[in-house]
Amino acid sequence: MTLDLTKLISGVQSQIDFEFEFALDKSYLESIGSVDASLFKVSGYLKKLSERYDLTLTYSGEVVFECHRCLQNVKLTLKNDIKRIVVSERESDVDAEWLTYEGYAIPLVPILEEDITLILPLQVLCAESCKGLCPSCGVDLNKETCTCDETKIDPRLEALKHLFT
Ligand SMILES: [Zn+2]
Ligand SMILES: [Zn+2]
Repeated sequence: MTLDLTKLISGVQSQIDFEFEFALDKSYLESIGSVDASLFKVSGYLKKLSERYDLTLTYSGEVVFECHRCLQNVKLTLKNDIKRIVVSERESDVDAEWLTYEGYAIPLVPILEEDITLILPLQVLCAESCKGLCPSCGVDLNKETCTCDETKIDPRLEALKHLFT
């Protein structure tokens, strides 16, 4: 998924409109802790402005995570707009905010992966009120109750009990 710059460089066109569907890479999904994802849609345009390019795009898709507390699958819809200036890496005067490319094509995947990483929540929960799993028996406390709290006595309290009996 790259944007071919040859028509812009030769001056045949001053803008390229594009629309892609793409699957996020498995290793990328693993790196963000996701277990699955839908196909992503991306559309936008690249406009030539003298020595620079103006990249504007919109993307959307769904990514599945396990709830941080109860491990249930949670589907997140990700959607964002990106507006960046892109210049050749041979350009000497490059602003830190700009993207650079090599040769005659701009790869879109790294741009999208970087943005997705930035907009992800720090912790994915199925609900703010998720009760999580019981640390002793592992039941999902959203669906069941267990008696671990009642039967388990803190060993430090157990020791104190002897002092008073
Ligand atoms: Zn949960
Ligand atoms: Zn329990």
